[in-house]
Amino acid sequence: MGNLVIKNIGTIFTGDIRQPLVNGPVSLFIEEGKIKAIEQGSDLKGDKVIDASGMTVCPGLIDSHTHPVFGDFTPRQNQLGFIDSSLHGGVTSMISAGEVHLPGRPTDPKGTKALALLAHKSFAKLRPAGVKLYGGALILEKGLVEEDFKELSEDGVWLVGEIGLGSVKAANEAKTMVEWAKKYGMKVLMHVGGTSVPGSSTVTCDDVLIVNPTVACHLNGGPTSIPVSEAKRVIEKTDCAIEIVHCGNPLSALEICNFMKTKGMLNRLIIGNDAPSGTGVIPLGVWRMINFISSLCGIPAEVAVCCATGNTKNVFSLPQGIIKAGDDADLQIIDAPMGSAGKDAKAAIEVGDIPGIAMVIIDGVIKTQVSRNTPPPVRKTV
Ligand SMILES: [Zn+2]
Repeated sequence: MGNLVIKNIGTIFTGDIRQPLVNGPVSLFIEEGKIKAIEQGSDLKGDKVIDASGMTVCPGLIDSHTHPVFGDFTPRQNQLGFIDSSLHGGVTSMISAGEVHLPGRPTDPKGTKALALLAHKSFAKLRPAGVKLYGGALILEKGLVEEDFKELSEDGVWLVGEIGLGSVKAANEAKTMVEWAKKYGMKVLMHVGGTSVPGSSTVTCDDVLIVNPTVACHLNGGPTSIPVSEAKRVIEKTDCAIEIVHCGNPLSALEICNFMKTKGMLNRLIIGNDAPSGTGVIPLGVWRMINFISSLCGIPAEVAVCCATGNTKNVFSLPQGIIKAGDDADLQIIDAPMGSAGKDAKAAIEVGDIPGIAMVIIDGVIKTQVSRNTPPPVRKTV
């Protein structure tokens, strides 16, 4: 595979909220798909050298909330290629919140286990467009027993899809299953807010307090939000990761984000898309949420980016998401889009513009040059 150098980097958004910005000129040294070093200056040698022309390098985005089925197809919107389109929106990893859109989805214990196992194994073998999709999120159905969680975990399944989507709806019933899931090392997602689709349920703040999931999903609604006073209780009374999504309530997202900023809790905030969904397929959804919280809540761009990179890495214990030695080299090279009032990616994001993506790299391999979905970047790689 050899090594790769990205030189002449103007700025690095590290994804690490404790130290989110490195000012250039700097170079990145990548070997065997992993980041090896960040070096000051621009004279590193490598088997392959990319000149970033002074642009910004940022971790690939981790979408914390997607609803895939199999491959790069969504029956929810009858659309092919939504993952490939997301790659062109800077997304290099996605986390399934449940393969709930499978036509004829089985709802008995054996069926729901089989679906989680099949989706997990299928996405472990297939990376659509190169994107790392963590699939196989068990949907909780009545009748599951502790042995089921043990068995699935031994087969590699580590996600429980949004509680509220399956037949286990009562918080006390879910709580026991969540304890089994956590006992076997699984991460647990919980739908919060109004009923999303017929057959699912409304989940309140008190339900979250009883169940204590790993992630309080779309606290700003999916798409219907609980009252903001209740959302603030979830933030204050639990230590769950707090997720806001594109396909949610924007006012609620704004208030949640301002509250977490004031309380110094932005390290717990993660961003998902919650697509494909009734709202659609939105390839730029994660970048749009970063722009939203940066421009409307006055959060520096490099900090907002952490909510879809390093923070998410930490919640799900992923080997990518921060630009530091040892992490997978999943990266984007970004710049101000042509015509922006901002002179570089940071300034553009902070005035609410989606950056232009000049390149996306996964495991040290170029997956796309200039994005077909973002506006074009001012500068180009050489
Ligand atoms: Zn949901």
